[in-house]
Amino acid sequence: MKQGDTIEIRWHGRGGQGAVTSADLTAMSAIHEGKFAQAFPSFGPERRGAPVLAFNRISAEHPIRVRSGVVKPDIVVVLDPGLVTLINVVDGLKPGGCLIVNSTRSIEDLQGEFSGDWTLAVVDASSIARELLRVNIVNTTMLGAMIKTAGAIKMDSLTEPLEEKFGARAKANLEACHKAFDTTVIGKITVGGQKKVRTFAVAKQPTWSELLVGCAVTDVGSTKRFCTGDWKSQHPVWDDKKCIKCGICSLFCPEFCINQQKDGYFRSNDFYCKGCGICAQECWTQAIKMVEEA
Ligand code: SF4
Ligand code: SF4
Repeated sequence: MKQGDTIEIRWHGRGGQGAVTSADLTAMSAIHEGKFAQAFPSFGPERRGAPVLAFNRISAEHPIRVRSGVVKPDIVVVLDPGLVTLINVVDGLKPGGCLIVNSTRSIEDLQGEFSGDWTLAVVDASSIARELLRVNIVNTTMLGAMIKTAGAIKMDSLTEPLEEKFGARAKANLEACHKAFDTTVIGKITVGGQKKVRTFAVAKQPTWSELLVGCAVTDVGSTKRFCTGDWKSQHPVWDDKKCIKCGICSLFCPEFCINQQKDGYFRSNDFYCKGCGICAQECWTQAIKMVEEA
């Protein structure tokens, strides 16, 4: 990376994967090096599993007064492989910038997803984290890939922040970081590649005049943009013996993904149910139970 300017980093992850911790550790390491640094997250009201962002700004020379989210990053780090085809992770990435992805896919395969003048780095961080940390949380592992590819901070600077944050678990996290550093594959993306963007078909929703009971629906939740079913950690299960087919659950579902079946009972669409549990709370006969995902 070019030294002297402020380096801006955008972390893409899902709620619970530790993108915010990655940004925190990066800033703490930079400060440990005597630099100025910021770390802050950005997420909406969604829950565990939803796409989240975290940001860093690092400057070796001057305090950072900008407080807004990073829209033109020098470095983009993607913690969840599924996000590559779900959202435009390279949005605003500066020419000559770095895109670092956790994926089991080969670098040649991933190169075809993007078009731009960027460095692309790939590491199988999930396998490293499972092996060394016994859990698929890749935040510290991806730091190793980021350090190797973009050098925004030094590996040595990480030790103290990791010990402060993880205590006895710091050693394993540092090992994961080093393993990612050693195994990250770095290549180039060139202009002209074909970016594949995943799109979702959302069923046409009824207008207010087509609804069976009096209710106006202004819009569905985030189902138009995301396959929200990807991020649920629990799902509703119906007990038809208790259900009186009133349809209240379907009216309260923020994703508008509960439909009446031919037999008159209601069910959710698992592709779009995000497991918020509102339907179970609103069902007045307790016919819905939320069950943890297997
Ligand atoms: S709110 Fe409860 S009783 Fe009414 S349709 Fe839904 S599940 Fe059945
Ligand atoms: S848990 Fe119920 S209310 Fe929430 S998204 Fe799923 S079906 Fe809709």
